[in-house]
Amino acid sequence: METDLKEFIAGLPKAELHVHVEGTLEPDLEFACAQRNHIDIGAKTVSDIDHSYGYGLEEFLKAYYTGMKVLRTEQDFYDLTWAYLQKMAHSSVKHVELFFDPQAHTSRGVSFAAVITGIHRAIVDARALGVDTQLIMCFLRDFSKESAWQTLLAAEPYREKGWLTGVGLDSAEHHNPPLKFMLVFAKAKSLGYQLTMHCDPRQVDSVAHIKEALEVIEVDRLDHGTNITEDPDLLDYLLKQDLGITVCPIAYYYTRQNMELTAIKELFARGAKVSLNSDDPAYKGDTYINDVYYRFAQEAHWGKDELAQIAKNSFTSSWLSVEAKKAYLKQVDDYVKANN
Ligand SMILES: [Zn+2]
Repeated sequence: METDLKEFIAGLPKAELHVHVEGTLEPDLEFACAQRNHIDIGAKTVSDIDHSYGYGLEEFLKAYYTGMKVLRTEQDFYDLTWAYLQKMAHSSVKHVELFFDPQAHTSRGVSFAAVITGIHRAIVDARALGVDTQLIMCFLRDFSKESAWQTLLAAEPYREKGWLTGVGLDSAEHHNPPLKFMLVFAKAKSLGYQLTMHCDPRQVDSVAHIKEALEVIEVDRLDHGTNITEDPDLLDYLLKQDLGITVCPIAYYYTRQNMELTAIKELFARGAKVSLNSDDPAYKGDTYINDVYYRFAQEAHWGKDELAQIAKNSFTSSWLSVEAKKAYLKQVDDYVKANN
């Protein structure tokens, strides 16, 4: 029975909508980049690199920003993205909406061009593997709004080339509410970007931040946002707007020893377009999307029907065209028919 569900998940067509490319940096590539860029990370072999950390968002972010220091060149960003997309090609992931954090690199003296060109080249190459990828540029919310503006401007030549689909907001949330970035997001919307935004679980003012993201910023999708279940009126609003909500239960488990099971099950039961995602798999026990589906299904006592609906939600809440969504939904239906 267990193998059966794992096999079902392995072949189930799905989309990943919440994954940070920097969070897919595995120790072997981290070591290789450190060596070729002559950066001392205090590791003599790959096994000296430890991606585990104490529980808590702040502790995770410290490990995450330490790891990415080895990423310096266009080739580093290509290799990083290519390694992740190859894994997705072998996981029946057909579509990815991929986050990257340009300010985490430009603030270290790496050029915006090197970051985005490396990532984009891998995205183009991965199309041949059957993985279609769109790119979401995230602003770091613990940086200033002026820095977010500069990043939006730096991205213009690449947006014009069609390399960027959306903008997002991530990193340390306390004292960095959505409203801080209201004007930057309004400008991004006017430029044609789709909007999304992290509202991490159990933050100070979580519900207020979700309210700002939905009702003031008018995001097209919400990342995390599980505390919305504490406010029935706000949850009704999300349902009426038919907005997608990306959740990452295994990531929550690794930072808080809690998958937010109750909230996620409630969102699902109410018919919200909730999708399961990995977030930062290389830092969360090597838990890529198929592991997330399986581990969450075990915890929630879910079977094939619920997981097929989650896969459908991942396509319907993506930023694909109506035609592409229809085609992927048919792929899910055909797969379920053939594997039930
Ligand atoms: Zn995230």
